[in-house]
Amino acid sequence: MPQDIYDKIMMVAKRRGFIYPSFEIYGGIAGFYDYGPLGSQLKNNVENLWRHFYLLKDNCIEIATPTITLYEVLKASGHVEEFTDLTVDCCRCKRSYKVEDIIEKGLSVEQAIKEKKIICPTCGSALQDAHPVNLMFATTIGIGEGRKAFLRPETAQGIFTNFHLLYQYSRKKLPFGVVQIGKGYRNEISPRQGTLRQREFSMAEAEVFFDPKDKTHPYFDTIKDKELYLFDNEKEWKMSVADAVKKKIINNQALAYYMYLTQDFLLSAGADPKKFRFRKHAANELAHYATECWDAELRSERFGWVECVGIADRSAYDLNAHIVSSSVDMYALRPFEEPREVTIKKVVPKMNILGPRFSGKAGKIKEQLELMEPTTAKKITMTIDGESIDIPKDCYDIVEAKEKQIGEKFVPHVIEPSYGIDRILYFILEHNYVEGKKKDEEYTILKLNPWVAPIKVGVFPLIGDDKLISIAKEIDSDLRTMGIATFYDESGTIGRRYARMDEIGTPFCITVDHDSLTDNMVTIRDRDTTKQERKKIEEISSYMRGKISY
Ligand SMILES: [Zn+2]
Repeated sequence: MPQDIYDKIMMVAKRRGFIYPSFEIYGGIAGFYDYGPLGSQLKNNVENLWRHFYLLKDNCIEIATPTITLYEVLKASGHVEEFTDLTVDCCRCKRSYKVEDIIEKGLSVEQAIKEKKIICPTCGSALQDAHPVNLMFATTIGIGEGRKAFLRPETAQGIFTNFHLLYQYSRKKLPFGVVQIGKGYRNEISPRQGTLRQREFSMAEAEVFFDPKDKTHPYFDTIKDKELYLFDNEKEWKMSVADAVKKKIINNQALAYYMYLTQDFLLSAGADPKKFRFRKHAANELAHYATECWDAELRSERFGWVECVGIADRSAYDLNAHIVSSSVDMYALRPFEEPREVTIKKVVPKMNILGPRFSGKAGKIKEQLELMEPTTAKKITMTIDGESIDIPKDCYDIVEAKEKQIGEKFVPHVIEPSYGIDRILYFILEHNYVEGKKKDEEYTILKLNPWVAPIKVGVFPLIGDDKLISIAKEIDSDLRTMGIATFYDESGTIGRRYARMDEIGTPFCITVDHDSLTDNMVTIRDRDTTKQERKKIEEISSYMRGKISY
């Protein structure tokens, strides 16, 4: 079978230490991959480039939360009900398939099963029983009567459940953005797209909180004339960010701003602009929490257009859900021009009843009651230390009171750019993989951007002469001490050594030769132009730093 580019890249990736199939000595399993030494470094570099865009350019803050997430969080967020794929089972071999993977667009599932327009891709038998399957990995915290939990399907919930603390941290000013980079999990039914569909994957997400009445972005003017690559499911075209907002192709400035930031990041990381576009989600493909969503798609020779980033307007969905479920005050405040006196109703807990009835829990119940909106319900249900407790009406009064208010409370809206890091890494490899021939030998170059390349500089002595080796080793060590990743190599011809560095995407090579002994200079070779220039040894570190910094 002739190899396509995916096979070729995965072969190089395995041979040179970028990507290995996980657990291979036990036969491996679909949807899990390891990053080898170069892959890990490439991943770190891409994540740090991402941080440069979000933490430095956009001034977001970063947090880190557990990958194991309580049932209550994902129940509130809707994932327990909605994080599903429609699945069919084979009558004979009992294998299960995600319907979307095996059905043509536009066909009705029931009809397709009945008319055998879809059959088991493995054994060819009839399929039955289309039903939704939840894709979260379930687990239990503790033993015995433990707490139910899941491996998180997204990092976002860790940010939403901390909103009230992060709002405080950000001095109660909107907009502000919070990011998290980490693992997410999705128990895919039958993943068949190699590294593009993993069951455990790395994601980088930003949740940017806005006042729903003001979805402008403070830096919008700096990018408004830049062009976005858009696709509306019919045609592709380019349009300035400002025009896209003005013509309501993109609903608001905030969404458009993060689309441009995403485009800028992906192209800076090495995606090919000719194989890049934003595709707008049709209403029937929006996730349960989204009101508008654009996918940044990259094109692969084997897999076609693939979603690598989703930029969604999640509106107030998640914060609302957590306010209702946890009764914690997660509102923001829109200040009035001057304080107003208003009449309000509020819940006043009766400690003389709560105390004896709920003893140790009474204090926490009181705190939650005081935060609640008055209700006409006969009882209130709240969760204290994981236990669901009914609070009957005789435990509190609802009273009218005059209060000075300095602003009105509201639930912020969220714009969420969500990046699939593993997919982006694969596309950086595919889009920069160049094949050629040198002296009739197959020759491949990985034209990685110096920012993301795992090794920045190859360092070689021209020949195995002790004096040259000693200078080369010193340069190598100096560069690493300066924070520049190097690879020292003295084996084989210079041509071979260049070839090995080209294959893993190293942008520069330094060679120490006999002239170096007298003129204190070395040759620096540029991978892409193959041009060589002489530089003073003492200037190399700062010269290289200039070449590899953002
Ligand atoms: Zn079958």
